[in-house]
Amino acid sequence: MNVSNSLRTNNTRSAEIMARARGRFPGGVNSPVRAFRGVGGEPFVAARGKGAFVWDADGNEYIDYILSWGPLVLGHAPQVVLDALAKVMQDGTSFGMPTEREVDLADMIAARMPHLEMVRFTSSGTEAAMSIARLARAITKREYILKFEGCYHGHADAFLVRAGSGVATLGLPDSPGVPEALAKLTLTCAYNDLEAVEKIAREVPLAAIMLEPIVGNGGYIEPTAEFIPGLRRIADETGALLVFDEVMTGFRIAYGGAAERFGVTPDLTALGKVIGGGLPVAAYGGKREFMEHIAPTGPVYQAGTLSGNPLAMAGGLATLGALTREVHDGITAQTANLVQGMRDIAARHGVPFTASHSGSMWGFFFRDGVVRTFEDAKLSDVSLFKRFFHAARRRGVSLAPSAFEAAFMSSAHGPAEIAETLNRLDDALGAAL
Ligand code: PLP
Repeated sequence: MNVSNSLRTNNTRSAEIMARARGRFPGGVNSPVRAFRGVGGEPFVAARGKGAFVWDADGNEYIDYILSWGPLVLGHAPQVVLDALAKVMQDGTSFGMPTEREVDLADMIAARMPHLEMVRFTSSGTEAAMSIARLARAITKREYILKFEGCYHGHADAFLVRAGSGVATLGLPDSPGVPEALAKLTLTCAYNDLEAVEKIAREVPLAAIMLEPIVGNGGYIEPTAEFIPGLRRIADETGALLVFDEVMTGFRIAYGGAAERFGVTPDLTALGKVIGGGLPVAAYGGKREFMEHIAPTGPVYQAGTLSGNPLAMAGGLATLGALTREVHDGITAQTANLVQGMRDIAARHGVPFTASHSGSMWGFFFRDGVVRTFEDAKLSDVSLFKRFFHAARRRGVSLAPSAFEAAFMSSAHGPAEIAETLNRLDDALGAAL
């Protein structure tokens, strides 16, 4: 197939809708990264999705690697999730009372992440991370939090300090509106810099050391073999709690998440994305003795009208139910094939390139060598990324519209979709150079 013959050049409806949207929403969007500021140009407006594909408002089809920024581990509109939602909604869409499905989903999570003895469901990863900060401060009676440059933990005040994701893509300073007194309590250092962590943790009473166990919000950055065990040791020696923000990595980098992958158990964990299968669910959890500090068993207040929403629970149950270890391993194998194929393409074109994956989460940079910090990531060729992004989009491959975001894979991406993606990306890279 001659890929260049089938370029997606008609974006008329998307442009019309975005013109209307810009009159109603800042930048025309309800979450900044969707505005394509990281790559320039007009966003395409999503109309529908099925399996590995999305279609825009002009009917253009794309093989999708954004996958709603991670949740859609079974692809778009999987039948198991649609069936579960159709059934559950007949019985009511929200109660604001306990339901059995909440317990079922918590059980299912604990079966794969046994250190999450107790959880509390929220509706967004932001709420989960924000609540963890409050809980860690209450448990330790300390106020400082250590995070890492390029890591994103949602948009609560405590975490908008040297944050990744859209904040990094837009090159924003630490956000105006966050009181200085509060920002001062959030310390940062470079990812993978154990020496810096050790120094800070010995000088400052830290409530929590919080990290993305694999960074997905500063591009895809893996920890060194020593980093996470080192953080565990430092946390234990200094009385800080170790917090894994697994909103993105959970049920993606390994069947049992980061604890399984790295053999280190955190004190508290934030989850999101996959556990709702495309519906608004997140959670935080850990040992019973920690979680019982939360109201009503303890004094740390946190609540939510739609927390544990029945439809959202059903989405999570159907998704995790279908995501068996075998299915997870299958998605991992497809991800490995795609990543290796992209390395081969870059090598054929003579382009500096590094790509890696863990499970079904993956990423690449246009630069040589291993990326260990967000500073390393920023040394990649962002201008080539932008040209590549647009060339890929025109050829029907939807990548994250930022050089500093991870990509995802789903069980709906089979060998045919991977081969077609590589065919299109080969042509796209040629065009971008
Ligand atoms: N933590 C991590 C690691 C994330 O990737 C995100 C979102 O991308 C969040 C927290 C915030 O989650 P939400 O967008 O659901 O508020």
